[in-house]
Amino acid sequence: MSVAKEVASANQAFVSSRKTGQLPLPPARKLTVLTCMDARIDPVAAFGIKEGDAHVIRNAGARAPDAVRSLVISQQLLGTDTILVIGHSDCGMLTFQTPQAREIVAKQQGSHLDSKGQAELDSLNFLEFPDLHSNVASDVAFLKSNTLIKPNTDISGWVYDVGSGKLSQVA
Ligand SMILES: [Zn+2]
Repeated sequence: MSVAKEVASANQAFVSSRKTGQLPLPPARKLTVLTCMDARIDPVAAFGIKEGDAHVIRNAGARAPDAVRSLVISQQLLGTDTILVIGHSDCGMLTFQTPQAREIVAKQQGSHLDSKGQAELDSLNFLEFPDLHSNVASDVAFLKSNTLIKPNTDISGWVYDVGSGKLSQVA
């Protein structure tokens, strides 16, 4: 079975056992979590976020500059007022630099990469970082000084340990 079919099959089981009806669109706890796409982070289990509670925005590295569009929609259109930026230990974003990543992509795409793709790759900033804690702190500072973010938003920065599952505040 392909992974896509496995997902569809798991969904059939989910639908048959589902007890929740359709919940309201705005998150009940007015909470937005920005975290990494890392497969080892399960926000439901690790952060006690239930269906309907919060927006969970995920990207590579939990980078705030890469999440502004979603954060603005979350706050301005759907009424959230708390943002948690959650980076994590052993993040892949600590392991490379943009020039290397561009080389890897160019090599792997080979002749599939046309001139438009090459130009896009040349300008793609992978937003990697050399230090986890300082990056979370700087993304929190970035959001606090961003005038698209609502004044008085409760913004904090955290690091999640993918080994122990412990969440620690760093900003
Ligand atoms: Zn990560």
